[in-house]
Amino acid sequence: MRKALMVTVEVDPERVESRLGAGEMLCPSCPDGVLVRWGFARARRVVGVAEPVRPRRSRCRTCAVTHVLLPVTLLLRRAYLAELIWAAVAAKAAGAGHRLIGARLGIPASTVRGWLRVITGRAEAVRHWFIAVAVTAGVDVSIPKATGSGCGDVLGAVGAAREAIAARFGERSVIGAVTSARAAVACSGARLLAPGWPPVPMSGHPTPVGPDVAAADGSSSRG
Ligand SMILES: [Zn+2]
Repeated sequence: MRKALMVTVEVDPERVESRLGAGEMLCPSCPDGVLVRWGFARARRVVGVAEPVRPRRSRCRTCAVTHVLLPVTLLLRRAYLAELIWAAVAAKAAGAGHRLIGARLGIPASTVRGWLRVITGRAEAVRHWFIAVAVTAGVDVSIPKATGSGCGDVLGAVGAAREAIAARFGERSVIGAVTSARAAVACSGARLLAPGWPPVPMSGHPTPVGPDVAAADGSSSRG
């Protein structure tokens, strides 16, 4: 399978265009490369977004590697807004089951169950990852206690990372408003639910406000 590389960027396509045009987007695959416009990725429907999303593709002037620029509201290979997925994780942490969550959010219960299974299955590793992000970004970070629930632990750790990022860079950064869902996307290189964890090697990344990067198979989209 051909692997496309992916970079998480802000939601506003005009800002993405202007940063690309100004040579302000750096290549994550080589030391000094600059990304330039290189067409678009396949348009995709995303639940929670009215218009189909058509991510910009870019190519490095130096190493010629192409990268899909995925907005920070989207997780790799998921056809739902990250905020919706995050709402499901939060509801699970609060004790709801996948059927109730699905009914509340208007999402098939089986889809919700799939998300929660992935999160629960990697909860400990995800918790460690985001606590490391919080400690890297923050000062006097208080480490959230284990809750006994996988989703609860992930929620707490991502919340701590969000707090640390907002404290350091402000509530609005290059990714826009710093929500937990966006922190979860940006600091996982959009791979929170993608196959394989950790999402990127710990050395050098994750940079908390991105544009954060990860090697990822960004070609397909599913539940
Ligand atoms: Zn490059």
